[in-house]
Amino acid sequence: MFKKVLIANRGEIALRIHRACKEMGIQTVAIHSTADANAMHVRMADERVCIGPPPASQSYLSVPYIIAACEITGADAIHPGYGFLSENATFVQIVEDHGITFIGPSAAHIRLMGDKITAKDTMKGLGVPCVPGSDGGVATLDEARKVAASIGYPVIVKATAGGGGRGMKLARAASDMETAFTTARSEAKAAFGNDEVYLEKYLGAPRHIEIQVFGDGKGGAVHLGERDCSLQRRHQKVFEEAPSPVIDAKTRAKIGKVCSDAIARIKYSGAGTIEFLYERGEFYFIEMNTRLQVEHPVTEAIYDVDIVQEQIRVAAGHKMSFTQDDLVPNGHAIECRINAEKLPGFQPSPGRIATYYAPGGLGVRMDSAIYDGYTIPPYYDSLIGKLIVHARTRDLALARLRRALSELVVDGIDTTTPLFHALLDEPDIQKGKYTIHWLEEWLARETQ
Ligand code: ADP
Repeated sequence: MFKKVLIANRGEIALRIHRACKEMGIQTVAIHSTADANAMHVRMADERVCIGPPPASQSYLSVPYIIAACEITGADAIHPGYGFLSENATFVQIVEDHGITFIGPSAAHIRLMGDKITAKDTMKGLGVPCVPGSDGGVATLDEARKVAASIGYPVIVKATAGGGGRGMKLARAASDMETAFTTARSEAKAAFGNDEVYLEKYLGAPRHIEIQVFGDGKGGAVHLGERDCSLQRRHQKVFEEAPSPVIDAKTRAKIGKVCSDAIARIKYSGAGTIEFLYERGEFYFIEMNTRLQVEHPVTEAIYDVDIVQEQIRVAAGHKMSFTQDDLVPNGHAIECRINAEKLPGFQPSPGRIATYYAPGGLGVRMDSAIYDGYTIPPYYDSLIGKLIVHARTRDLALARLRRALSELVVDGIDTTTPLFHALLDEPDIQKGKYTIHWLEEWLARETQ
């Protein structure tokens, strides 16, 4: 097993990884920018290295400094968390070339899934159902028009290098195609330096259902059921639950097996998430994330596993600690992403937290790195905590969530907590009746 793991991230996920390491008797190294000198993950880690100024491009994304921090501290592995360098195949290659273990899949698997066209082709070949669309990239407006006419409007133009909801444009009718095609391309070029786009049938009322998978890198793989992440704002997840209110055990077993078989065949190693849109009983693959997901705790709650420890174990060459038969879901879990944002416009709200009180009690988990007197820097994303509840049934989980939210205190800044109080009053949320468009439509009505 590793002796020392360097955590190449910040915020709640850095602390989450630190906790997993400590329970395994592994030393931790925090890296941080000057803006994060007082961050909780930095204080708790066994060792800390300041690697640069506040902008992520000069610190959390600075590959030479991260490698230097490993060499100075003697860390034998790097956990990338999510975001930053977690899906950067070049980084993984450099890490491995320096004799350091990357806790995650191989550079080749990251590359395969990082390009959405290649990912879709691969998945199709592995028997995973996909959204109907263009065969690969679409280079010209003329071609886009032809493909769209054959699959039928509405269509969505998507960047093959896309992520975070960027480089995605809807064309409801032929008259929208020119704008959708050119803006998707220019947005993709600006954000990812790659303007290749492809077309997909736009699904009108799907849910976002994703399957957590785990591979041992040798052809063994399991699935840990689904997460329903349909509540989204600007294609970003806001509230996630497991199991999904619309997936039964038989459906779960079937799609889960399709996914675990697919990753077994490519000898995938570590944690991954296969994302689908789900409409009228059909699954449509959209992408695979080759890393830990923000919302992994809902799966941990119902399967009673530690996904980060499992990642570390497999990266160190050990066997997975569970088989498919061991993985039986229990109860219901819900996560709310608490962001430092001011409602109703969701503007970032960095600043000093005067008082913080975390909810607790049975079935409540608060993953956060904030504390009394902590100042949220303005340079990074606005997620400041994840509140996760677990109970025997969905109704009990909702009641527990309401109770836990009412205990949460974050004074001094604005947070998205009031949004969740309001959502819990909605009959659709109580019944689990929502699609990927529900939240946007609700927000539009509420802020009229
Ligand atoms: P990103 O990598 O930018 O997050 P995804 O391909 O994962 O992009 O899509 C993000 C979200 O965009 C999905 O969860 C869904 O809400 C919406 N979306 C993506 N593809 C489609 C589609 N074909 N039809 C309708 N909505 C879509």
